[in-house]
Amino acid sequence: MSIPENLTQIVQKINIASANRSTHTGNVKLVAVTKNHGIDAMRVALDNGVTAIGENRIQEAISKYPLLNRNAEWHLIGHLQTNKVRHAIPLFDLIHSVDSERLAAEINKTAGKLEKRQDVLIQVNVAGEDTKYGIPLNNVRSLAQYINDLEHVRLCGLMTIAPYYEDIELTRPVFRELYYAFMELKDLNLSNSDIRWLSMGMTNDYVIAIEEGANLVRIGTGIFGKRDYNAITKGG
Ligand SMILES: *Cc1c(COP(=O)(O)O)cnc(C)c1O
Repeated sequence: MSIPENLTQIVQKINIASANRSTHTGNVKLVAVTKNHGIDAMRVALDNGVTAIGENRIQEAISKYPLLNRNAEWHLIGHLQTNKVRHAIPLFDLIHSVDSERLAAEINKTAGKLEKRQDVLIQVNVAGEDTKYGIPLNNVRSLAQYINDLEHVRLCGLMTIAPYYEDIELTRPVFRELYYAFMELKDLNLSNSDIRWLSMGMTNDYVIAIEEGANLVRIGTGIFGKRDYNAITKGG
């Protein structure tokens, strides 16, 4: 199927899933994950209703940014190293992957120099997988309070990547736990934060994530098809 057809189907599924839920997180925004996809595919997506794109490598985003002459929000969804922060701040509207005080402090310092207030999410490793970035659920409150005190960073919510399960129903409790953490975070009423985004759900599991409260879903394969890991390095 074509990118516009894929988008139509996904938007329908998002609408159905969000109509049937009892959570309090509002409308769902789609982030089209364009890593390893070229500029042409990105333009098609933006011409067909996508407003936010997600990249997970700084270098790739830097090379695409000047080529994409369309209005779009840029979201950083991949791990951010402190030594790349200075490249990330000018580009990204929302950084989904803050997972330490050290990284938050570096973002604060750099954003201050650039006279920007950087919107961020805390990445949570809900299932405690060794292979994934993110902090444990137990540490969310203290990192949130730390970020709340930073002048040039605005905490806007939480993000997670669920484990891969053959049976996707097993992701449901993972998403539910993060939803509860999100509601608790909201209830802290942090004075300097704006807790509104719950980023969870990818191609395989976004319907379940939305049913459990996600309002930001990150979908790549479902829109663009399988990633060709050679396409970008070849300059395509
Ligand atoms: C690649 C990626 C996605 C999108 O994955 P798909 O399965 O292609 O939809 C979402 N979130 C993160 C953090 C990713 O790295």
